[in-house]
Amino acid sequence: MLDTHCHLAHLPPAACNAFIAAAGRAGVHGFIAAATRPADWAALAQLAQAHPNVHVAIGIHPWFHGEDGSDARAAMPSRLGDAIAIGECGLDGRPEHGPLERQQATLAWQLDLAALRGLPVILHGVRATEPLLAMLGDRPGLAGVIHGFSGSVETASRFLRLGFRIGLGPLLLNPRARRIRECVARLPEDAWLLETDAPAPGERDADPGLLARVARAVAALRGTTVERVAAASDANAMQLFHLEDIR
Ligand SMILES: [Zn+2]
Repeated sequence: MLDTHCHLAHLPPAACNAFIAAAGRAGVHGFIAAATRPADWAALAQLAQAHPNVHVAIGIHPWFHGEDGSDARAAMPSRLGDAIAIGECGLDGRPEHGPLERQQATLAWQLDLAALRGLPVILHGVRATEPLLAMLGDRPGLAGVIHGFSGSVETASRFLRLGFRIGLGPLLLNPRARRIRECVARLPEDAWLLETDAPAPGERDADPGLLARVARAVAALRGTTVERVAAASDANAMQLFHLEDIR
């Protein structure tokens, strides 16, 4: 099973190695590790070198749009290396994350770079669904995932029509997250990717059993087996990220 969205560069190196090994014992045999800021890029390249089952995405998260200087913009194309996606990038409409216009500028050039390179995009979208859908609608042909999705099945369908898949993470484990739990029950099988988004911001450790719990929750909500849910997620991820081999 592939963890399609995590932040391995945020773990201290020893904890990261221990997490990869422990998650492997819990059935997670591949990881897509996304950047949040330029300071992550070199660490991710090293992780991908050290671990053949760690695939990386390079980008600037909307919380760090202030780090979108001309240096970062100029450097990013040459830092893509073996990156399988651009991300994590996106929009966050909560006021503490700064003006949406500034975030949109940071996202726009990353989407354009993804289109130029033919790479999928890993998106963060919180309280900014309409502006995000508008930016994707302006760029037909992009593909990617809207990660940590919390919306309705109607909103999910709009992302799916634009070529984006739906990232399902630990929010599902909360019985009060009714809207997304209802959405999961109604999504088509080619729609979702399983993810942990681990470690949580500020944490220096992560739970190696978390992805299996997310998979069990999706299976329970859909009345199917964990094996079927995991196989669908892996197949969807392989297709989206052009991965030949997930072990
Ligand atoms: Zn993330």
